[in-house]
Amino acid sequence: MKKVWNEKQELLSRAEMEKIRIRKLRKQLKYCYSHSEFYRRKFDAIGFQPEDIKSWDDFRKIPPLMDKEEERQSQKESLERFGHPFGMHLCCPPEKIIIAKTTGGTTGIPTFSYSFTQHDFDRWNEGTARVFWLAGIRPADRVLFCFPLSGGWAGSIVKTPLQYMGILCLDLGAETPVEKIVEYTRIIRPNALMSTPSFAEVLIETYDKMTGRPVSELGIKKLLLTGEPGVGIPSVRKRMETAFGGKWNDYLMINSEGFSSSCIAEEYQGLHEVALDLSIWAEDLIDLDTQQPIEVKNGAIGEGLITSLDREGLPLVKYRLGDVIQVFTDPCECGYPGPGYRIKHLGRLNDRLFVEGISVFPIAVRDVITSFIPRVTGTMRIILNAPPPNVTPPLKIKVEYGAGVQPNQLPDLARDIEGKMLEVYRVRASVEFVPPEALGRVTKKTPIFEERFQ
Ligand SMILES: [Zn+2]
Repeated sequence: MKKVWNEKQELLSRAEMEKIRIRKLRKQLKYCYSHSEFYRRKFDAIGFQPEDIKSWDDFRKIPPLMDKEEERQSQKESLERFGHPFGMHLCCPPEKIIIAKTTGGTTGIPTFSYSFTQHDFDRWNEGTARVFWLAGIRPADRVLFCFPLSGGWAGSIVKTPLQYMGILCLDLGAETPVEKIVEYTRIIRPNALMSTPSFAEVLIETYDKMTGRPVSELGIKKLLLTGEPGVGIPSVRKRMETAFGGKWNDYLMINSEGFSSSCIAEEYQGLHEVALDLSIWAEDLIDLDTQQPIEVKNGAIGEGLITSLDREGLPLVKYRLGDVIQVFTDPCECGYPGPGYRIKHLGRLNDRLFVEGISVFPIAVRDVITSFIPRVTGTMRIILNAPPPNVTPPLKIKVEYGAGVQPNQLPDLARDIEGKMLEVYRVRASVEFVPPEALGRVTKKTPIFEERFQ
């Protein structure tokens, strides 16, 4: 059995890959300049010509060119002027787009980042197949697919690479009642699950309620759970893996780029980049405050800019996602042979809080809380009494205490959690407890904030 999906591309040395990338990058930038008014305007505004890019350093010096808000503006302009929603950064005739999927759309106009020409669709399937292969998916697997499928959301596009790989995808969608999913699963016997961690939790609980038996008897051994933190927290991961009797891998394709997956290593090592020939992400880091390029060395933290390679319809160039990542350049213990670095996703830049000037990401708070499982359930909210990012201390955290915890044990538990927040992050916190399951369970994305302001 092959070790990677695409042995021709993934087994190249870093030096060989760099040569391919710089060639593809120059080609992509030239293409963007000559095929899109948006990019021409952008490049001209900073006095830059695609021919100026001779080296990696030349490229790194270009400032960020686009973000979500600008993508929306670009879409608005193309809708008004040309009657299509793909944006002024579209580089091909709109009729070449054969798939148009939106991201989230939870705030503002949805963006059509997951819109592909046939060429881009093939490219997407190829990049994602590498991701799924590293995450452990193989021919003959049966994959239960439970992301939201409705409303044109990009979730449904995540399953097409399975068909490209020749793998059976049982797409039920997270909208299906969980009881129905359980019934179906017992008949058709998938051995892999693709969903959010929250959905997997609901499946565990529903199965227990319906049958009184552990969910492990369903035979789901491969857990490809993504979209929320959790896999990097040993206690959370262990609980999930024990419940199913399987292995949890997470993966990421961010804004239809940045193909990456976690690996077989015992301890979580972050996401391996598996398609350096298709996009640039971890190697183009900027400082969180100054937006200046920062050196990409082991452990570096910054915002990664996305640039597409070999994309025909909607290539991204120096795109700011607003995601904070940590990059690891040292070899991973798993032995993955590819030339890519590893990435840990630290959270959204917008979610960053400042408590007395100390910056803290919600994911870091969650790490502290979940380290107290089973004394807590792991479900929590950060309470915001005023609009973020500035928080007047103490940082208020609402926490579900664990099932076996007695009321008289709560003061000690609060003291332990608050002590750890202070010790690890130098942040004064104040914990408020609620009973297990009081914060509810959702099959989509679990919120991290509880906003108590207008
Ligand atoms: Zn690894």
